[in-house]
Amino acid sequence: MDSNGGVDELLTELQSLKDSKLDIEARISVLEAQLQQIQSKQHPNQKGSSDCSNGGSESGHDLTPDMIYRYSRQLLLPSFGVQGQSNLLKSSILVIGAGGLGSPALLYLAACGVGRLGMVDHDVVELNNLHRQIIHGEAYIGRSKVESAAAACRSINSTIEIVEHKEALRTSNALEIVSKYDIVIDATDNAPSRYMISDCCVLLGKPLVSGAALGLEGQLAVYNYNGGPCYRCLFPTPPPTTACQRCSDSGVLGVVPGVIGCLQALEAIKVASLVGEPLSGRMLLFDALSARIRIVKIRGRSSLCEACGDNATVTHQKFQHFDYEKFTQSPLSAAPLKLKLLTADSRISSKEYDEVVKKGEAHILIDVRPSHHYKIVSLPKSTNIPLANLEDRLPEISSELKRKGIHDAPDAGIYVVCRRGNDSQRAVQLLHKMGFTSAKDIVGGLESWAHDVDQRFPTY
Ligand SMILES: [Zn+2]
Repeated sequence: MDSNGGVDELLTELQSLKDSKLDIEARISVLEAQLQQIQSKQHPNQKGSSDCSNGGSESGHDLTPDMIYRYSRQLLLPSFGVQGQSNLLKSSILVIGAGGLGSPALLYLAACGVGRLGMVDHDVVELNNLHRQIIHGEAYIGRSKVESAAAACRSINSTIEIVEHKEALRTSNALEIVSKYDIVIDATDNAPSRYMISDCCVLLGKPLVSGAALGLEGQLAVYNYNGGPCYRCLFPTPPPTTACQRCSDSGVLGVVPGVIGCLQALEAIKVASLVGEPLSGRMLLFDALSARIRIVKIRGRSSLCEACGDNATVTHQKFQHFDYEKFTQSPLSAAPLKLKLLTADSRISSKEYDEVVKKGEAHILIDVRPSHHYKIVSLPKSTNIPLANLEDRLPEISSELKRKGIHDAPDAGIYVVCRRGNDSQRAVQLLHKMGFTSAKDIVGGLESWAHDVDQRFPTY
């Protein structure tokens, strides 16, 4: 027995058993789905209870008794009915992104009986996904999102075909993957993907249900549908980089992508079943704080559009070599940006800063994160001066230095920290300019502190 009473061994065995259980469950769902498909091909009219004749040929539809029972609440809707359900069962929908938007979209699409449901994602499930990515559970942390989402969908409906694409959607594979489906749902969270997916849908003539959620707001529209506009018609040039925020940086309340993802599923179902009036040529804007939903009319297809206009320049070949990251000035992957604005002598590693603290060297530590970040967690004895207010609050730094008896000599200790080490560099640049020439930033910010110095320090 080891020093902690065998806890480690128990945890390891427990984890290994949980992993095996998940694998077995996933395998069972796959086999059940395969069995269902084979049986329905062999006996197309005898699915489910064999002594009950299905409505089938006599009723002019091909729904089996099991299907009639499973989807009965939808069949009872006069505007949807048997025809809507049959259309849905014959359709295929691709959901790009199994995250906050994709989670509810996939669950509802699987439940309602889309014939073939595809999902694309290259990411793995992380603990800080679970507050909004409700298709994933704790047991899947560290495992593929697509595997997790597929298992959840199969557990709801083993009678539909579920296709797993465990890869990132890129210009090299997008045309091939998207071409296999009738309708596309963009459930990604970044500008380059948005343009890439829209262009791809235009090239292949696929309707696109596009959604976005950030903070407490969301939006939704259907593009490239029945002569309606595409995403580029509306946004011919990408927004400035600073406007391309992501929830990993600016936060999102879990329900907000949930609401938008549900609406995406609904629009895709309408397009697939040929029921209702899809949100084409209009955009839905959702504001969670004020509980307001607005629908605004958007401009129609633009004859000048690079993707779908009269003299469109986006071709299959050009698409495959187009650099969407360069075009939008923002990265495809979720990996945070790492700036390098300062020279090595204006920087200090988190371990080196730890030495400064341990040696008791006189210094001040300025944390330049926004105050709501500072309230989550902060280093002891740090002063919070958000980057946006730094210039106005320079006198505070001077008086703090004076109070500690530090003069701004080349070796005077002014250290600046932020979350990841980007804003701290911007702050140090400003401090140097304003005469605080000894200011240094802590490389990698609080994340590096949590990684290299204090593993119990919370990350967010
Ligand atoms: Zn267009």
